[in-house]
Order: sequence, then C-alpha cells, then structure tokens
Amino acid sequence: MSGNGGRGDILVIGGGISGLTAAIEAAETGANVTVVEKEAFLGGRVARMNLYFPKMCPPSCGLEINMRRVKTNPRIRILTTSTVESITGGPGHYKAIIDKAPRFVNSKCTMCGECTGVCPVDRPDDINVGLSTTKAIYLPYEMAYPSRFVIDEATCLGEDECGKCVEACPYGAIDLAMAPEKEEIEVDAVIWATGWDPPDATHFEGLGFGTFPNVINNVTMERLSALNGPTGGKIQRPSDGKALESIAFVQCAGSRDENYLKYCSGVCCMATLKQARYVREQYPEAQIHVFYIDLRTPGRLEDFLVATEENERLSLIKGKVANITEDSTTGKLTVEAEDTLSGRKVAQEVDMVVLATGMVPNGIGNTQVEGGVELDEHGFLAISQPQGYLAAGCAKRPTDVATCNRDATGVALKALHLSAE
Ligand SMILES: Cc1cc2nc3c(=O)[nH]c(=O)nc-3n(C[C@H](O)[C@H](O)[C@H](O)COP(=O)(O)OP(=O)(O)OC[C@H]3O[C@@H](n4cnc5c(N)ncnc54)[C@H](O)[C@@H]3O)c2cc1C
Repeated sequence: MSGNGGRGDILVIGGGISGLTAAIEAAETGANVTVVEKEAFLGGRVARMNLYFPKMCPPSCGLEINMRRVKTNPRIRILTTSTVESITGGPGHYKAIIDKAPRFVNSKCTMCGECTGVCPVDRPDDINVGLSTTKAIYLPYEMAYPSRFVIDEATCLGEDECGKCVEACPYGAIDLAMAPEKEEIEVDAVIWATGWDPPDATHFEGLGFGTFPNVINNVTMERLSALNGPTGGKIQRPSDGKALESIAFVQCAGSRDENYLKYCSGVCCMATLKQARYVREQYPEAQIHVFYIDLRTPGRLEDFLVATEENERLSLIKGKVANITEDSTTGKLTVEAEDTLSGRKVAQEVDMVVLATGMVPNGIGNTQVEGGVELDEHGFLAISQPQGYLAAGCAKRPTDVATCNRDATGVALKALHLSAE
C-alpha cells in the first residue's frame, strides 16, 4: 500500500461504464483512483447509444448518476485526452507514465459556445460516425463530462493562422499554446477497462458495407435513432433521406465466422431487437426482417424477445445471409439467404440493411507493459490473478452493461485486495 493515505492507489485505464464503475466502487471504499481516458469525455460506447436494453431508457440516466459520484468524490482523479505510455513494476509497486495530450480549453470554460460561432473549420463528428460535423473547437455531446469544450489539434488552424476562438472566448478559457505533458504515478493495482470498437465491416465479403450507402452497422443505427444524432432521431435511408417501408437486420455479420470474428459478441441479438423497436415506433407499418443463425436472449431477456416478436410485420428468418446486392437506381437492397427451417432460398428486397457487427477488443492499446499482459486469441485481456493486472467489462469479453457493472464491482474488490497486500 502506498503512503498517500486511503486504501491504496489504483490506476483505471478506460473511462467507459466499466472503468467508471470500478473507479467509483474502489474510491467509495477508500482507495485513491486515477482514471485515464483517451477521449475528451467519459462514458465510452454507452454515451453513444440511443436507448439501453432491456429497460429502454436513455443512457444519460445511468451515466449522469455515475458522473455525479465521480464529481463529488475527491479520491477520483480523471485524466481525459490521456493514455498510458508504459507500466513497470508489479502488484503493490507499479509505475505508470501517463501521456496527457492538450485539450486547449481550461476549467474556466462555461460551454457558452461563443468559440464555435467563429471557428472556420468543420471536422467529421466521430460520435455521429462522421454523419455530421463539428467545429474544430467543440463539445463532444451535450451531457459530456468533463463539461468543457475541446480542440481537435489535427484540424485546428492554430494561433498563427486563426486564433479567432481565443478572441471570442469571454472567459479566457482557450489556450492554444497548451503543450503535451507526461506524468509518472505509482499505484498498487492496474485495471484495464479499455472496452471495444466495432469491427471494420468493409472486409465482410458480400455484405456491401462501405459500398452500398444504405447498408449500415448497428453502431450507426444507434446514432440515427438518437435525438442528438445526425438526423435528430429520424431513422431514414442514408442515401436519400427516404422514410422506411422495410428494413433487414443481418445477425452475426462477420461474427461466429472462421474468416472474421470467431466468437459471439453476446449482445447483438438484443441490440437488434431493441433497434427493431426503434423502427417500429417510427414506422408502425414498416416490414422488419431479422436474419439470424440463433437468437441469443439469455435469462430474463427472453421476455424482451417475446414482446418484440408480437408483431405481424416482424419476421424472423433463420438463415445466414450469403449476399446483399443493390439496385443502383432505387438504392434498394436485396438480401439473400437460405431459410434453414423451410429449406427455401430467400431474396428479400428492403430499403435499408443494418449489420449486427459485434465487438472487437481495444486491448492494451500502445502501452508498453513490463512482462506483457496476457491476451486471448481474439485480443481480449485474459489475465490470471497472479500477474497482478486486472481487467473489467468488454476489455475482457463482449457483454452488456449490467454484466459490465457487476464485473467492474468485483474487479474493484480485487484491486483493493492487491492494494492491501
Ligand atoms: C450496437 C450495440 C448496442 C448495444 N446496446 C446495449 C444496450 O442497449 N444495453 C446494454 O446493456 N448493452 C448494450 N451494448 C453493449 C455495451 O455497449 C457494452 O456493454 C459497454 O459499452 C461496455 O462498456 P466498457 O466500459 O467495458 O467499454 P467501452 O464502452 O468501450 O469503454 C471503454 C473506454 O475505454 C477507453 N479506452 C480504450 N482504449 C484506451 C486506452 N488505450 N487508453 C485510455 N482509454 C482507452 C475508450 O475511449 C472508452 O471510453 C451494445 C453494444 C452494441 C455493439
């Protein structure tokens, strides 16, 4: 245990729901926690969702509670726009070097937005998967924490060429001369909570992602459905903004497939059923087709499947999709599969296709770790206890938020044990 007071010192890498939960649980038990998050905001992938299954409430509810616990706990230190360069040492005596990229906006920011009014540069909004733009100085999203603007260094023209935001800011909150910093910290335990990214579906043969504009993935579908998304929550065809008469969801797109991701991501069936409800709400008459290999809705989630299925305009077709083609004149798509229950070949024409593409792990990023960190064959952290490192949530395996929360709480306890040894 280090000599800084409290129940030891813990480093959490990744400020998504898993990292935040682990940090809060450990800090509320008395540990000092540093959370290192590479993005400019906390919340990870959950912050980009429209609604959560199974409750169908907006993620801002749960996140807001966590942010309040973070803000009011003096034992938690948050470092955004930061990564961990290296970790040396072992349990009870780790040394981590943290790279802190400049945000260019300090804590005097009131989020008044005067800066964005004068910024001449537009950049793709990564939260909206590039379907909208922000200025080079921007707030990641309305509820973002830290509640402060940030400057995208890659697109900002800089003080010499522009500097308009500095002049426009009434509070002196913008400092374009901010430089990167390094900081060394000593901790007893390290928790990896680096989560997941969607796979690059352009590699998935025959599914048309990246070629046909009306084939999207399930992450984009969350943004198309969200009120703060690129279409203000209106689900429409990306190619022409047309309202939907029909839609197909392609399950296991690239998953459980020897050629791509061999594993099941565990949440895609539920994500699709949730997204089918988004469509149903906006388009009561639309035909919804779900192509699946197996529908996996374990435990009480079965109720969600049963309730979603109760709609005559929703058809569940058991068959792996072999090919998707596009009519370039109408933008319509034809989804081809074999219905394994009837033995018939299906060629279903639809307005839009959502690929349920699963999750790939972010692993340990570019961090140099003395002695390395165990990863499984897919890149998930597969840490055995004696090594001293811990992993929480989707860094370890693909799963839903409730499981991440339970897992992160358990991992916080293990970190406290390591701190006490
Ligand atoms: C389409 C889709 C819909 C879903 N819908 C639901 C739903 O409705 N309900 C539900 O329960 N679950 C849902 N899920 C699952 C849910 O997204 C995950 O359970 C959740 O995101 C896991 O949280 P996490 O903190 O483990 O990972 P993440 O949310 O990925 O957070 C990881 C964090 O770590 C940061 N990070 C990564 N690498 C580094 C690094 N090297 N250094 C510093 N920081 C780093 C990231 O920026 C991020 O902030 C859905 C999943 C998909 C694919």
